[in-house]
Amino acid sequence: MEKKEVEKDIFWADQFAKSLIERKKFHYLDKEIHDRKEFIVKTSASISGVLHIGRLSDSIRGSSVFRALKEQGAKAKLIWVAEDMDPLRKIPEGVPKSYEQHIGMPVTDIPDPDGCHKTYAEHHVEEYLKVLDKFVDEPMEKFSMRQEYKKGSFKPFIKKLFEKREELVEIQNKYRTKPLKEPWSPWTPICDNCGKIVTTQIKAIEKDKVKYVCKDYYFEESTATGCGFEGENNPLEGKGKLLWKSEWAAEWAHWKVSAEGAGKEYLVPNSAWWVNAEISEKILDYPAPEPIFYEHLMIEGVKMSASLGNVVYPKDWLHVASPQLLRFLYNKRLMVTRSFSWKDLLQLYDEYDWAGKVYFGLEKEENEKESIHLKRLYEMSNFKEIEKPLAMSFSHATVIAQLFHDKDDIVFSLEKTGHYYKKHEKEIFERLEKANKWLTKYAPEEMKFSLQKEIPPGVELSEKQKKAVRILVKEVKEKNWTEKTLHKEIYEIAKGLEIEPKELFVAGYRILLNRNRGP
Ligand SMILES: [Zn+2]
Ligand SMILES: [Zn+2]
Repeated sequence: MEKKEVEKDIFWADQFAKSLIERKKFHYLDKEIHDRKEFIVKTSASISGVLHIGRLSDSIRGSSVFRALKEQGAKAKLIWVAEDMDPLRKIPEGVPKSYEQHIGMPVTDIPDPDGCHKTYAEHHVEEYLKVLDKFVDEPMEKFSMRQEYKKGSFKPFIKKLFEKREELVEIQNKYRTKPLKEPWSPWTPICDNCGKIVTTQIKAIEKDKVKYVCKDYYFEESTATGCGFEGENNPLEGKGKLLWKSEWAAEWAHWKVSAEGAGKEYLVPNSAWWVNAEISEKILDYPAPEPIFYEHLMIEGVKMSASLGNVVYPKDWLHVASPQLLRFLYNKRLMVTRSFSWKDLLQLYDEYDWAGKVYFGLEKEENEKESIHLKRLYEMSNFKEIEKPLAMSFSHATVIAQLFHDKDDIVFSLEKTGHYYKKHEKEIFERLEKANKWLTKYAPEEMKFSLQKEIPPGVELSEKQKKAVRILVKEVKEKNWTEKTLHKEIYEIAKGLEIEPKELFVAGYRILLNRNRGP
């Protein structure tokens, strides 16, 4: 398909990539960055929560930066990391109450409640990984934190963190109101007795081990019960994990990360991002990556959560829309709250189609800056092949899908209104199928209707309405109509009979759809 040259300095990911390439120095040290041969963009997801479409924003935005870097001539790689050493914080919806005993255990150690996988983590990750790469520009190399600890990948960093433990405490305290309580360890062991990871309180730090006692730990909404066991653990043996404010820095240094996404809650000056950035540079001698900040996706203005039943999984999205459309949603200007509701899907489709028409020069966006931005946004939302926008809007598709079920009828209707192109046939029918699924699962009642085969009982029309309908039926049979000319004709007929055009529309809707309003 044809590809247009689009100006690139107005789109956020292009600006981001440019400043990344131009960056020469550490942020917290007066030191040059040497030997950067490749830019690694890290994306990830914590496996302790639900893997909904909100989690894709991290990978989709990371992918945009990755692509912009490559287009600017840099060598780049996109990776994905499962943060699967995180503890289970509360019992998710639909999981038996007996799972309370597992709260505080790493999600990779908890059995799969559905019994189809080895662990709770695998159960959630597998489904997500089946579709994840569909949303990014190139398949990502994927890692598991659990496996990395087991392999010993973090050993050199754990060593350094302990060697410079005093400086590490000092850095952390700068960002805290209350100083850390000693003995403080960046490493949290897994309890040898009960397998929990948040309950192990450090009692002493010795040369090559930490001593702990297993005590209750309080999450916001739940408690991980400690078993009272007292034990010791060698951090270099990998049975445990680094605390988040150290672990993130170790991940950056290990994978040589240049950029990573972070929710906008990390923007505040004392967030884990900046603490890790300083740790990364001062303790691990690795230049802190640049953050790709973003807003979280809300559904109807509220956070997605299993208990609210508003979770949208990536596979749900693919039933009614394409990856391109989600990329479009996430690549719009950053730091604007992204709220989504299934009702808005029609509008999102319209915005996407509009951007496509501007991109291909079929429509003109008057504001020149906006026009440049829209074109690049459309290009970046697409993959190598740029989709030609369809003439049939998604809302039109929802009407067609309800009126006709036969392929010939559909083609006939779309041809009549000028929305059918043979070369788009596949895409048209794909959109109709998505519209059908959207109607079944998500459409508000007022958008659903069915074509009546007979005049529905109880429909009463005035004499003038009846007459107008008779004229209209005759006209429709005798001539060919487009949407516009038919609309005009209805007004003409109404005018001739001195009734309000609205009355004639209502009569039509009552007869055809058995409703007072129509599409
Ligand atoms: Zn399973
Ligand atoms: Zn324990």
